[in-house]
Amino acid sequence: MNQEIRIKTKHFYAVLVILGFLLIYSLSSNNGCDSDGQSSPNSEFAAAGGREAFLLNQKGPTIYAITPTYARPVQKAELTRLSQVIRLSPNVFWVLVEDADHGSELVANLLRRSGLEERSVQLFAKTPTNFKLQGKDPNWLKPRGVEQRNKALDWVRRELAANGGRERHSVVYFMDDDNTYSSELFGEMSKIERNKVGVWPVGLVGGLMVEKPVLNRDGIVLGFNSAWRPERPFPLDMAGFAISSDLLLDNPQAQFSYEVERGYQESEILRHLTIVHEMQPLANKCTDVLVWHTRTENPKLDAEKPLVKAGKRSDAGLEV
Ligand code: UDP
Ligand code: MN
Repeated sequence: MNQEIRIKTKHFYAVLVILGFLLIYSLSSNNGCDSDGQSSPNSEFAAAGGREAFLLNQKGPTIYAITPTYARPVQKAELTRLSQVIRLSPNVFWVLVEDADHGSELVANLLRRSGLEERSVQLFAKTPTNFKLQGKDPNWLKPRGVEQRNKALDWVRRELAANGGRERHSVVYFMDDDNTYSSELFGEMSKIERNKVGVWPVGLVGGLMVEKPVLNRDGIVLGFNSAWRPERPFPLDMAGFAISSDLLLDNPQAQFSYEVERGYQESEILRHLTIVHEMQPLANKCTDVLVWHTRTENPKLDAEKPLVKAGKRSDAGLEV
C-alpha cells in the first residue's frame, strides 16, 4: 500500500517536472517570435514586414508597365500573376487600363489586396464596338489593346510632364495581361539608357520557340530572327522592347493605330522613336529569355451554364 502511494507520488512529481519544462519551452519560443517582431501572423505588422521583404532594390528609373485588360473568367488569375511579379520589382509603376466604360471592383480589389495601390493607377478606355472581336472571330482579326495603350500613353506623358519632364529618366513597357514575365526582366529594363529603346528575346511567339534580336560582334542590333512577316520595319513582339521616356516626350505623335495592318502595331509606334541599329540589346546580349508570349486557354464552363440559368451559380457572392 505504502509502496503504491510512493509510486503514485513519484509519478505525480515526474508529470509536474515535464509540465514545467513544457511551460518554460513554450514561453521561450514565444519570446523568440516576439523578438522577430511577429506577434501574430495576421497582424498588420506582419503584412508590412511581408511587403518590406520585397523592397530590396528601389533604385533605377521608374518603369511604367502598361497593361490593357478586359473582363473574362481568367482575368483575376492573369492579373494576380502580374501583380505578384510587380511586387517583386519595386521600381515598377503599374498602369492598368480596363477595356470598359468604368473601372471595375475586381481590379480595384486586386490592387488593394496586392499592396500596389500606391504604385498603380486604374484607368479605363473601351474599345469601340466596330473594332471589338465578336463571338467566334479569330483573335488576329482585329487589333487588341490599341485604345487602352493609347489612353495609358496619354496618362504617362501627362504624368512625366508634371513630374520633371525630360529631366527625369523613366521607362515605358507594354505588359499584356496574359504573358509570363520573369522579375529579372525589370532589372534588365532598368538599364535602358536615355533616348534608347531596349530590346530582348521573347519566348513562344511568331511561330518560333524564341524571337530575338540578331547582334553583330560589336553588339549592335542588325535585325531580328522573326519568321512571321520578317519584312516588317520592326519584326518583334510588344513584349520584346521598352522605351526611354524622353523619346515619348520628344515624339508626341508616337502611338498605336487601328489603321495599320495586322502585326504592325509595334512598328507603328517604334518608327517614330528609333531605328533598328540604335536599339539597346539587353538580357545578356539577347541570350536570356525573360518573357514568354503565353496565351491562356479559355476555361470550359459547361457545368456552370445550367447553374446560372437556375440562379444557382457556383460563384454567387465570390470573386473568382
Ligand atoms: N485586350 C483588351 N480587350 C480585348 C482583347 C484584349 O483589352 O477585347 C487586352 C488583353 O488583356 C491583353 C492585350 O489586350 O493585355 C493583348 O491581347 P491578347 O493577349 O488577346 O493578344 P495576343 O496575345 O494575341 O497578342
Ligand atoms: Mn496575349
